Amino acid sequence: MLSMQFIRDNQERVQQTAIHKNIPFQVEELLAWDAKRKELLRQTEAIRARRNQLSKEVAPLMKQGNRGAAEPLMAQVKDMNETLGALETELQAAEGRVSELLLLVPNIVSEDTPIGKDDGDNVEVRRFGEAPVFDFEPRDHVALGEMHDLFDIPRGVKTAGTRNYYLKGAGLYLHLAVQRLALDYLAAHGFTPMDVPVMVRPEALTRTGFFPAGQDQTFGIADEGKWLVGTSEVSLVSYYSDEIVDVGEPIRLAGMSACYRREIGSAGRDVRGLYRVHQFAKVEQVVLCQNDPSVSEAMLQEITGHAEAILRMLELPYRVMAVCTGDMSQKTYKQYDIETWMPSRGAYGETHSSSNLLDFQARRSNIRYRDADGNLQYCHTLNNTAVASPRILIPLLENHQRPDGSIDIPQALRPYMGGIDRLTPP
Ligand code: AMP
Repeated sequence: MLSMQFIRDNQERVQQTAIHKNIPFQVEELLAWDAKRKELLRQTEAIRARRNQLSKEVAPLMKQGNRGAAEPLMAQVKDMNETLGALETELQAAEGRVSELLLLVPNIVSEDTPIGKDDGDNVEVRRFGEAPVFDFEPRDHVALGEMHDLFDIPRGVKTAGTRNYYLKGAGLYLHLAVQRLALDYLAAHGFTPMDVPVMVRPEALTRTGFFPAGQDQTFGIADEGKWLVGTSEVSLVSYYSDEIVDVGEPIRLAGMSACYRREIGSAGRDVRGLYRVHQFAKVEQVVLCQNDPSVSEAMLQEITGHAEAILRMLELPYRVMAVCTGDMSQKTYKQYDIETWMPSRGAYGETHSSSNLLDFQARRSNIRYRDADGNLQYCHTLNNTAVASPRILIPLLENHQRPDGSIDIPQALRPYMGGIDRLTPP
């Protein structure tokens, strides 16, 4: 959320950002409602003051038995109470509308964010590793999965509908191994590993910027009035909602959770295999730090670097993309996506997403700290994937396959796989 004052002072910039992010938001409408709210408040306060004054004048007149003088005043007070009642209703409606509209305002974007329509306009920043050149016909992850009995998609669909799957045997161990590797790496780099609630109150989603705009992407549990998170970012940031925190040293959290996504609008996209599913697991990095753009920029580089380090441990070729405005969410100020090479696609596919939100989320969630002068400030918050599985299994299986279908286990993953260095076909 941006402050009303910031929006007033930067009307043009906020409107441009909405256009660049493809968010149908009219700053003028918000400002008009805010002006109306202020005017109604002014009128309400003026009438209330006048009424209080008149009421004070009535009491002594009544005491003196001067009903003749008191009655016209009492009639005026009665009229004013009626007017006040109507004004207060109008004021409440205007305040409600301002609050609703404020939740829809997009965060501004950094100077170095590319302006663009969609992911086709994202800009490559750097690359690591080379796409492997196979001197045999490589198999895709679905064929490799069948060969090694790593997962079962048809039975997942039978039980739970499209975009569902079972993980089995070594498939499940690989899924756990990549998460454990990521978690241990982050713990060694100052992050607190956390298991989090995945079924949360709607307020947690609103205050972290996922509602109302992204509500249609979220699974609700009607009987409970709760919702399933699409990322542990929601639960990790909400951990500190309405609190005053100490960010002398940035707070680093690593959440491990199931993530649930409706994938509305993705019909027909990525329907083969494990790329786009309704339920997956993710180790997520969340950082809270001081309200200083140079500090949060450094943290963005740090968490992006952690994801890259994990990919290098998995010996996977990847590239880092600067995400353009049209591919960003409402809450994001600056974003990098990391795309990992997926041989079956003959292309890089998104596996990580790293964002700086400035104080957008902390303002909504009311997370503050005391600065050096003792003043309360909203923190900056950031998040990035450390690893998301089963999507990461796609490049892991496909890049490390051999002609006979066996799959090399990267060195760093072996301790988490019972020491084995290769999956061999049965
Ligand atoms: P996001 O929070 O949308 O930036 O996603 C973070 C990461 O989670 C993505 O880069 C993917 O690796 C993974 N992910 C997101 N949505 C899905 C999905 N529907 N199925 C599988 N993995 C997903």
